[in-house]
Amino acid sequence: MSAPLKIDSHVHIYRDRPEAVREKTGYEVWEYGELSGVHASDAIGLIDDFVDSMRRADIARAVTVNLFSAQVAREDAIARIGDDISGSQRDRRLAEIDAHIGEDLKAFNRWACDTAHRHPEITAFVAADVHALTARDCAAHIRDMAENHGAGGVKLHGAFQRFDMSDERLWPVYAVCRELALPIIGHAGPDRLGLGYAEPRAFRRALQAFPEVRMVLAHLGGAAWQQAAEVAAAFDNAFFDCCEIIEWTGAPNAPTDRQLAQLIRTIGVDRVMMGSDYPWYDLDHTVERVMALPLLAEEEKHAILGANAQRILGL
Ligand SMILES: [Zn+2]
Repeated sequence: MSAPLKIDSHVHIYRDRPEAVREKTGYEVWEYGELSGVHASDAIGLIDDFVDSMRRADIARAVTVNLFSAQVAREDAIARIGDDISGSQRDRRLAEIDAHIGEDLKAFNRWACDTAHRHPEITAFVAADVHALTARDCAAHIRDMAENHGAGGVKLHGAFQRFDMSDERLWPVYAVCRELALPIIGHAGPDRLGLGYAEPRAFRRALQAFPEVRMVLAHLGGAAWQQAAEVAAAFDNAFFDCCEIIEWTGAPNAPTDRQLAQLIRTIGVDRVMMGSDYPWYDLDHTVERVMALPLLAEEEKHAILGANAQRILGL
């Protein structure tokens, strides 16, 4: 039997080493609780390292899902102002920061698309953020990225970007996705404040309002994985990736290997994709983890490794 098609449907890449180190060390995976022996990657998320990893793990295609949070970018910029400037200077700096956030988002997305353009095996999903641009401008920017820069879809992270996945300010972005047949990959999982912005249930109104839009609930809902099956049963346009959670099985707030395999079976094997969440985890190890799942047949695991992503994400 020939080797299965392998696609990594969930990857983070950074523009340079300082950004990579900052992002990698600044994001702590907390939601599953304590677990010793989690297989963490040494990578930091630079494109050349990633392309090497793809080759070594025989991954044919990959989808980058870079994150941009206007609220976090604003807080970081404010922290850099320092205390040694006067009140009016400070006000002027704050106004400049606000004025630039939208441009920062656009530059960030353009870099992702340019990088994918140089690496035909990579498809860029671009960030939308209604705290960076007005809903209308954000939708226009997504359209531009898709029509003129090759973006293959939209990435959202409600918990990090601090909006609910069914916030109606996202409706114009979702409408562009419907019109251009762009899938959405949304981080799914709890947030530290308990707001539930990105838990699987938070996707319900959006899934209902845009039944033609394929929405991927990443991490099978993460530590909110127990909500995943009900959302899958209610909405045919809900899809899933199994990254991160597959490296945390057995943790207090994660399923066991058996529960994870059962969840995939309940949702439907053809609706779940492999991702690595590189640079947090390694591509070859993620493949091994999928192949080691109990309950699933080898052909089903092979579909999870790549064929499902090809179909669901239209790659
Ligand atoms: Zn991720």
